[in-house]
Amino acid sequence: MYKTKVIKIGHKKIGGNNPVLVQSMCNTDTRDIKATVKQIKELEKMGCEIIRVAVLDMKAARAIKKIKKQINIPLVADIHFDYRLAIESVKQGADKIRINPGNIGSLENLRKVVKACQNKKIPIRVGVNSGSLEQDVLKKYKMRVTPQGLVDSALKNIKLLEKMNFRNMVVSIKSTNVAHTIKAYEMIARKISYPLHLGVTEAGPPSVGIIKSSIGIGALLAQGIGDTIRVSLTGDSAEEVRVGWEILKSLKLRKKGVEIISCPTCGRTQIDLPKLVNQVEKALKDIKKEITVAVMGCAVNGPGEAREADIGVAGGKKTGIIFRRGKVIKTVKEKDILKELLKEIKKL
Ligand code: SF4
Repeated sequence: MYKTKVIKIGHKKIGGNNPVLVQSMCNTDTRDIKATVKQIKELEKMGCEIIRVAVLDMKAARAIKKIKKQINIPLVADIHFDYRLAIESVKQGADKIRINPGNIGSLENLRKVVKACQNKKIPIRVGVNSGSLEQDVLKKYKMRVTPQGLVDSALKNIKLLEKMNFRNMVVSIKSTNVAHTIKAYEMIARKISYPLHLGVTEAGPPSVGIIKSSIGIGALLAQGIGDTIRVSLTGDSAEEVRVGWEILKSLKLRKKGVEIISCPTCGRTQIDLPKLVNQVEKALKDIKKEITVAVMGCAVNGPGEAREADIGVAGGKKTGIIFRRGKVIKTVKEKDILKELLKEIKKL
């Protein structure tokens, strides 16, 4: 088990025994306060627990204060190259900043950023990315991005901050290559105790990005590595949050709302199961109760396969057998399954 130190990001704590948190990043122009707040609010509703915004210029940095006043989750300012943007973001109330210490300018400038964060007691995420590895690290590995190169870069940057007496850190070492991401995080988890933010960077559109992220993030979380996660997808940020939660729920690391278990159907299925699953999913999407609902195709294996479900239905011959924790409670006609199932869920 990898134990990390506890770090505070606004009112949230990560690391140690704290739950793994779901993060996302706005794809709005941070200078457009209205649009950014609107997106953050939507993401909050989906369960986003920490939000990152890109700070490209002073106007974006100055927008942070106004954005923060209207949202409820900690805000991370993402800065590249210009240390003044980092300092301004801290001044404007960012709860954490994400920088790549190697590209923020001279040591003197980095020291100024560190000082600003120390004064406000806010953490820095050292964010190493396969797309922006330093030249000296690349040269060492024949200009190829390797897991060891990612780790070398992270350790170098961590040491830089530690030399400045700064230890309020979160670390990420994301690669577009899933296998590299897993290897790199496994290596660094053995070397440092700072909380780790997990992600497969530029994972692509949802069709492939969800799979890459689930494998990369999931493989690490399953080993006890990772304190915050971000599923990075091209397109809708809300989908990132939904998938992030599904990963955590799949590994039983967090609970949130209803978990639906359904079978793939086979020759034994005698009801329209796909339609029923769709209806159940829609009907339960806003339920906050943390329950597991099984929708199974047949009574032969259904209740047994879904024994751990709080409530469920197994299809019979144009009928539905409602069961609770593996025990049959009643049999209803196919047309009444949804209604009866929802009735039983209400009783839970
Ligand atoms: Fe087939 Fe029944 Fe298993 Fe569904 S639960 S896959 S219908 S055996």
